Amino acid sequence: MAEIVIRNLRKEFGDFTAVQSSSFTIEDGEFFMLLGPSGCGKTTTLRMIAGLELPTSGDILIDGEEVSQKPATERDIAFVFQMFALYPHMNVRRNISYPLVSQGLPRAQVKAKVAEVARILGIEDILEKPVGGLSGGDRQRVALGRAIVREPKAFMMDEPLGALDAEFREHMAEELRALHDRMGATTVYVTHDQLEAMQMGDKIVVMNHGVIEQFGTPQDIYDKPATMFVADFIGSPAMNFLDARGTVAPGADHVMLGDVRAAIPEMREGASGEIVFGVRPEHVRLSDAAPYRGEVRAAEYLGTTQIVTVDTPAGEIKARIGSDQPARRGDKVGLEFNGRTVTLFSRETGKALRSAMNEDVFHG
Ligand code: ATP
Repeated sequence: MAEIVIRNLRKEFGDFTAVQSSSFTIEDGEFFMLLGPSGCGKTTTLRMIAGLELPTSGDILIDGEEVSQKPATERDIAFVFQMFALYPHMNVRRNISYPLVSQGLPRAQVKAKVAEVARILGIEDILEKPVGGLSGGDRQRVALGRAIVREPKAFMMDEPLGALDAEFREHMAEELRALHDRMGATTVYVTHDQLEAMQMGDKIVVMNHGVIEQFGTPQDIYDKPATMFVADFIGSPAMNFLDARGTVAPGADHVMLGDVRAAIPEMREGASGEIVFGVRPEHVRLSDAAPYRGEVRAAEYLGTTQIVTVDTPAGEIKARIGSDQPARRGDKVGLEFNGRTVTLFSRETGKALRSAMNEDVFHG
């Protein structure tokens, strides 16, 4: 069990800065996601926490102890990689027990611990099998078993499901999360898959170009994106961005989209310059009476819902609506937005403006 505090963590490789200045706290027992596109610095952050990479500057505290310059072996952290390096010449039992045997633990204790881990993972029946013939999922369970059996303070996982096909990946994601809930060990998990992060994580750090864009619960990140990058990266389809006219003053409750007034949450912060009106596809409705109008360019059928793309004066809008609603290419339609869910951004900074709905939003 461990609380991990990261303060102003920075990593340079020569002239290149992979991690700029990260600060966040991972609470004891949390399932914590590091999310972002390829090359954003997720793995480097994880490797610094595990002690596989030394930071250029900054602090890493595990349960209050500063460990940033300590070697990995002194941090009591288990690392689970994407490609599971099992010992092919050993059976499952010996693979799992290996860390304990090399620590010199008495045989009876090793046996009891392996039995306990096999029970948790549901692999009691394959303990005597060679690892060579196992399925991908079982190999994954064995690799996890070898990490769990040491009872480390925390687990670091780098895209552990990356090599699996989509269906099995979903199953293993559920299994991993359930395992975490049973064991309650602090877990830090790297992924570039926003759905995986939203489904599994208690908290998410969203990174881009070595910078933390946002840090919060999945719901906060979805409902109150701190930046246009986050609003675009999270959600499928992504948030719609429309060009709003005029300046926004504190207290404002609407903006102009073309010539039409559109309601927004009461603003706490104003901005001049270009203002971006952000609304998620599920908060857009098609309504004949609505004054803001556009033309349907496409409709993508998804079963119970459909994604309708509409060209409008302030930009393209995607709406997620019931597939029973008629929407055909070329239709002229009115669009209604749920004003409480709208986020305004400054085009210049890319940051969300504070409103009654997102007062506490992280601002970098
Ligand atoms: P991916 O999912 O592609 O691994 P990531 O977000 O995990 O992406 P990192 O592996 O942390 O990204 O890499 C961040 C940046 O740092 C990348 O541009 C990478 O090329 C660079 N980098 C990582 N390790 C080194 C190294 N040892 N030497 C030089 N540059 C490095």
